Amino acid sequence: MNGDLQQRVRLSAGLWLGGLAVSIGLVLLLRATGVIAASAELWALAGSMIVVTLAVLARARSLAARDAESVRILTAAARDLAAGHFERTVPVDQVRLRELRLLGEAIDALAIRAQRDIADLKRLERVRSEFLGNVSHELRTPIFSVQGYLETLIDGAVDDPVVRDDFLRKAHLNVLRLHGLLTDLIEISRIESGEMKMSFRYFDAVEFFRAILDELQPTAEMAGVTLELRITADDRDHGAYGDRDRLKQAVVNLVENAIKYNRPDGAVTVELEFRESELLVRVRDTGIGIPAEDQARIFERFYRVDKNRSRAVGGSGLGLAIVKHIIEAHRSVVQVASTPGVGSTFSFTLKR
Ligand code: ADP
Repeated sequence: MNGDLQQRVRLSAGLWLGGLAVSIGLVLLLRATGVIAASAELWALAGSMIVVTLAVLARARSLAARDAESVRILTAAARDLAAGHFERTVPVDQVRLRELRLLGEAIDALAIRAQRDIADLKRLERVRSEFLGNVSHELRTPIFSVQGYLETLIDGAVDDPVVRDDFLRKAHLNVLRLHGLLTDLIEISRIESGEMKMSFRYFDAVEFFRAILDELQPTAEMAGVTLELRITADDRDHGAYGDRDRLKQAVVNLVENAIKYNRPDGAVTVELEFRESELLVRVRDTGIGIPAEDQARIFERFYRVDKNRSRAVGGSGLGLAIVKHIIEAHRSVVQVASTPGVGSTFSFTLKR
């Protein structure tokens, strides 16, 4: 270590020894030229040593006073920090000793870090309470509906077969919605708490996507939408790398959205483009599209462009948030390109 403090000690010792050497030299010179007598030689030497020692001590004292002031500045800064005033900075330019300056800079860094951590905590707290508010609101809507239908039935509507069947069907639909919402909630909390373990493997992407589209075919038919798989660069092998179960969840969410937010007689196309080291997946629809100002926000939990339409088609508002988490866990990003009234394309890449 070569700090200011060692340098200072070395300099004082050097000064003192130098002073001593000069004193001896001077006394010897004075003695040789006969200016002082042999008997006064020792006194002259002792006197000059005392002068040199006093000078060095005076210098050390003034430096120590300056350092004590620096320590006071740092102590005040540390106390402010302890009292929660993280915005204050240490005036390091007023601190002369390098070691103390470094300590001041470390205190400053600590304050900045604490400031950042506190801002993060506040943001998380806000997000958490917003999320809680949203969840309560989302749960309340279907529960109130079921309650309303059941109460009306109990109050006598049960005797009218037409009303009874209609209300039971509607109550059932709301229970299904509740179930979907709770499933998505459990899923998102598992993902966000890091509880969800991923299991990455190589798999045949064409076979994987074809199986998913086969499963979703009845849903598409019911909505009057065509569903198609399109493959480009088919001469390459069909391998892709990822967690099949999680990816299936993401793709199902994207394709279901493409069906839900489509027009009658619309089309959904899943395109697979096999590139050198990645597979580009696009889920393209001819649906209602998403206004530009909403495109960045649709991946937020519970964000919907049109709340009524989303509820009418049984959306929990969590689907795209889940998709985003899953695709990011594959070290990729979901992108959206959309034109209102024309359609949307969601895309992401997978390693291969
Ligand atoms: P939801 O359960 O409401 O569908 P998502 O998180 O899956 O929730 O989607 C969030 C919102 O994004 C939807 O409410 C809808 O407004 C919009 N959205 C998602 N996918 C599409 C799409 N393919 N076309 C048009 N709008 C879409």
